[in-house]
Formats: sequence, structure tokens, C-alpha cells
Amino acid sequence: MRDLVQRPEGTASTHCTAEQYDAMYRQSLANPDAFWLEQAQRLDWSTFPTKAGEWSFDPVDIAWYSDGSLNLCHNAVDRHLADNGDTVAFIFEPDSPDSPSRSLTYRELHSEVVRMANALKAMGVTKGDRVTLYMPMIVEGAAAMLACARIGAIHSVVFGGFSPEALAGRIEGCESRFIVTADEGLRGTKRVPLKDNIDAAIALLDANSPVDGVLVIRHTGGKIAMQDGRDHWYTDVASDADCPCVEMHAEDPLFILYTSGSTGKPKGVLHTTGGYAVWAAATFYYTFDYQPGEVFWCSADIGWVTGHSYVTYGPLLNGGTSVIFEGVPNYPDHGRFWDVIDRHKVNIFYTAPTAIRALMREGNDWVTSRDLSSLRLLGTVGEPINPEAWRWYYEVVGKSNCPIVDTWWQTETGGHMITTLPYAHDMKPGSAGKPFFGVQPLLVDNEGNPLEGAADGNLCITHSWPGQARTVYGDHDRFIEAYFSTFPGRYFTGDGCRRDEDGYYWITGRVDDVINVSGHRMGTAEVESALVLHPKVSEAAVVGFPHDIKGQGIYCYVTLMEGENTSAALTAELRQWVRKEIGPIATPDHLQFTSGLPKTRSGKIMRRILRKIAENDYGALGDTSTLADPSLVDRLIEGRQNR
Ligand code: ATP
Ligand code: MG
Repeated sequence: MRDLVQRPEGTASTHCTAEQYDAMYRQSLANPDAFWLEQAQRLDWSTFPTKAGEWSFDPVDIAWYSDGSLNLCHNAVDRHLADNGDTVAFIFEPDSPDSPSRSLTYRELHSEVVRMANALKAMGVTKGDRVTLYMPMIVEGAAAMLACARIGAIHSVVFGGFSPEALAGRIEGCESRFIVTADEGLRGTKRVPLKDNIDAAIALLDANSPVDGVLVIRHTGGKIAMQDGRDHWYTDVASDADCPCVEMHAEDPLFILYTSGSTGKPKGVLHTTGGYAVWAAATFYYTFDYQPGEVFWCSADIGWVTGHSYVTYGPLLNGGTSVIFEGVPNYPDHGRFWDVIDRHKVNIFYTAPTAIRALMREGNDWVTSRDLSSLRLLGTVGEPINPEAWRWYYEVVGKSNCPIVDTWWQTETGGHMITTLPYAHDMKPGSAGKPFFGVQPLLVDNEGNPLEGAADGNLCITHSWPGQARTVYGDHDRFIEAYFSTFPGRYFTGDGCRRDEDGYYWITGRVDDVINVSGHRMGTAEVESALVLHPKVSEAAVVGFPHDIKGQGIYCYVTLMEGENTSAALTAELRQWVRKEIGPIATPDHLQFTSGLPKTRSGKIMRRILRKIAENDYGALGDTSTLADPSLVDRLIEGRQNR
């Protein structure tokens, strides 16, 4: 299960070979300032910085490129016009395959962004204002991000699937007086009432935090209410007037983004301009080994950091072509992803394990009936990928020809932190791989003692990197508390991790999800991988619960493949199966079949809810506002095994 999969050979234009990686990684640690000043040359600066990192983790104060200035929209759009104005920046694939898709060149994108920036200005937005974007996955969403960057406003993108309550909390959290939205969004056969939700959210706001302007893009043409003086149709206020890029200090804020809330109340993470830009540009370039002319598709929504760094900023900072997909993987059928890849000749595809598992469950025919020969490289992000799903992605989707990059990172890290590089490293299914340049991972035990060599512990990062978040907006104490207090002087990721004898990192899940059964520490991801290996199992989530004798027991939630039935015999078989795969110590105590797992809107399993149910303590589920299907919780409680 953990064998090495050989990397393909690179070509002359490969950005990083094994030898180059070793030399560059060493250099990035030995002389970080020189390394990151050199990487900063990927961008156009108004004033090129003389300093790279100036930071301390105790007290917590982080800055990069502090005496440099630049504008990110200029870097993402304007500077490509002279030589590559006719290169396609975005390919838009609409929700319905029958609606026309659309390509925008950099020149066309520039016009769109200028119009959007002028519309924002017409509403009164100025430098430093927070602008909430609540958008469908359409070109105007990315254009609104770029328009904010152009005029120095700080965007806060809120995923279009969030409720008015969750939205209100995020508008208030950053005291945002301006909103950009659309009349409605489309997701499969559903219409999402975006503007109605905005109206409902505004009604929930404190009278002291009024919203001054709502910019509305007409997308579906659905009927909505417009409030005079506050709401403006985009086409009414947009103009082609000259709109120069505002020069920004490297440490001026670029955006606020709320984490997905898997572990508790979402945090409004703040990223600044210069360091984030270098990180997004460099990680995109190396991790995907991006070559000019290639079509890159990241299926994440711009409401998540993955969409920020790898739908919008990373690709455009590299002058690349990025696909924006409005729809969902199972509409009109389970072959949609693969159709999009064929239609737009996608070369690099980047998605989440949850989507891979869902599609794998539907069988191979949906994939094998498509061509997919344009694919060169595949990527995953968001959760540990179980080796079974990795294999399927590699063999069935990638025809064993495409390297897979399993990228570990967080909203707080701005971009990739641990990943293999496609032509530098062999792959190990289930392992994220090696640290990116400048990233210094440290595993520590629960007392904070560093662990050397092959070890299993809490994943910390000891040195700052350019893309690191600077604070939690308006609450620096929470920033310190969340990331720097558990192990003082170190950035603590909250994730458990194992490093093997080859120096590969294996994320074992959140530290809270590491369980200790009779003194044996194990990551819940390991038990989940074993379960999913069984041909009848589609998805599994494993949590610990207090156990009188063992300290902690193992509780498994299992979703079966389409058409399979639950039975006591299957329960026994699965317990036996895990026992055989991992060992008697991992034998599940309880196994509950379920039609689905509670997930965040970004598709991550919310294990803290499952833990409460397993503990029979479902009265205190905590913040469930980011749950995709709240009704599922009642069904899970109903079927609980540990009564
Ligand atoms: P919150 O911080 O509010 O609980 P969240 O951590 O889910 O939410 P994100 O920043 O979107 O919000 O997710 C980062 C987390 O996702 C990481 O800490 C890690 O647990 C997980 N993760 C991301 N990529 C990978 C990967 N390739 N392998 C394993 N885990 C991953
Ligand atoms: Mg997190």
C-alpha cells in the first residue's frame, strides 16, 4: 500500500529536477533572504524590496518585503498585456453543458477588471475598505477580487453556499460596508438565491454596521428586489474610464478569508500583498510545473483559499490559463468533470479527495468513456487522500501517465507547504511528500520536544515563509492563541503527521483526531484508509471515544458503495477487515452505517461532530453553521451505536 510510484521523466523545460530541488531547498534554508529576494523577481514591483523576511514567532510579528511596493492586479493582469494580451486568461464553463462557454484573453479580462474597479469606486469604495464578495463561480467573481486589489480594497470572499446567518457574521466580522454579488447562482438543477440571501443577511446586521453599497451582477436574470440608493446593477455603474493600479506597500492587506470551520468557529485569516503574491506565484510555478500555453483547472470555489491561490492569483501571476467552472461534478451526470477536461483540453487538474471518492463510487465507465489524453498532471488538496482513492485517480483518471501532487497546506499558509514536485520526487500514495522551498517542518511530541528522523507527532513550522497569514483580522490575540501558544515560538498547524525514513511527510489528520488506544497512537486517517480499501465501502470517518479499559475506543462511520446493503454480517466482516489490514489494536469497537458524512461546504468531514455523537454527547455539537447538510446530523444521532 505504501510503495513508491516512480515520477515520470521531465523534459528540458521542467522547472525543478531532483538535483535542483535538493540544491534549492538547501539554499532556501541557508540563505532565505537571498532566496526569497530572487523569487520576488517573478513580480513587477514599483519599488523592489531590499529586505525579505523580518519576523518573530515570540512575540508574534511577521513581515516580508516590508520596504517594497507593488500592485497585485497589475502583476496578475496589466503586465501581461504588452506581450501576451491575446493569451486566454480564463475559460468559463457554465453550470449547464448546453450553455455557451466563454474565453477571456488578458486584454478582455483587463477591460472587465477596470469596469469592475470603476463600479466599486462609484459606490464609494476606497483603499483599505473591506468588500464582501458573495458570488457564483463566474468570471466576474475573480474579476471582483482583482478589482479590489487594483484599488487597494481588501476582499473577503464568502462561499456562495453559506446561509444569511453565516454571511452576516462574516460581514460584521470585518466591518464590511460593501458587497458584490449576483442575482442568483446555479449549481446543478438548483438556483441559489444570492441577492435574497444578501438582503436577509443585511437585515440581521447590527444597526451600527450598515452596508452602504451592494453591487449586483445580472447572471440568471431571476427576479430580485433592489433597494434604492444601496443596491446597484453592475452595468449601471461600471465604466471604461481610466483606472490606474494603486501602489501598495508589500505589507498592506490583500484579503481576509474565513477558514472552513472544521475544528471550530471560523477564523478571519488576513493575508498581505507582497509575500502572498510571491508565494502564490512560486508555488503555482513549481508544484504544477506550469508551462506556457497549458490549461490549468482547479475545481475549488473562489470562496476557499484554494480558489484564491490557484483559480485566480497563482495562474494569472504566471500568465497562465485558468478554468472557472460554475457547476458541480454530478450534473448533468457523473462524467461532467471529465467532459470539461475534454472540452477545454485541460492539462493540469487539481481537485479534492472528497470529489475523487464521490466519483470513484460511481464506477469507472464515467471516466473510461472519455478521452482525457490532454491531462499531464493531477493534484489533490484539502484532506489526506487514502491510497485507494489515490490509485484510482492515478490509474483510471491519469492512465498511470500523470504525476499526482498531493499538496498539504492551509488557509493560513497562503499556498502549498508540503508536496512532491512532479519531476523531482517519486510519489507515495497517501503522503504529501517533501517540504516546499523555505518550509521547515518540525515534529514535536505533546510536551513540545522535537522528534528526529522517522517519527510521529504534532506538525509545527519553525520559520516564517512569505505566504504566511499575518493575523486574524481584528483579533491578533486569537491569532497568537490559535497558532503560537500550544508550542511557544513555533507555528503549530493543528495537524498530526508522520515523517518516514525517506523524509516524506504523511498527514495523519487533525491532532484532535489522533487516537490513543491502549497506549497506541494512531491517526484516524489510517483506519479510514483501511476501511475504504474494502470493495463495498465508499467513504469512512473514524473518531475516538472514551473507553473504560482502553482509554479510547474506535468508532467508525461507514458509507457504502451505490447498491450495497448494510447487514450485521457486513459489520463483522469490516471489523475483521480492519484487524487484518492494520492489526488487532485497530479493531473497531463500533461501526455505524450512514447514508452520508457531515461535511463542511468545502467538502471536509467534520469529525468533531462525529466525535460528539460517538461520545453520546450530542447536546453540545458546537458551531454547525458551515455544515453542508444539517439534516444529516439528526439521522446520525438516531443511528448511534454507543448508547
Ligand atoms: P478550521 O481551521 O476552521 O478548522 P480548516 O482547517 O478545515 O478549518 P482549511 O484551511 O481550508 O480550513 O484546511 C486546512 C486543513 O486541511 C489542514 O490543516 C489539513 O488538516 C487539511 N489538509 C489540506 N490539504 C491536505 C493534504 N494534502 N493532506 C492532508 N490534509 C490536508
Ligand atoms: Mg485549520
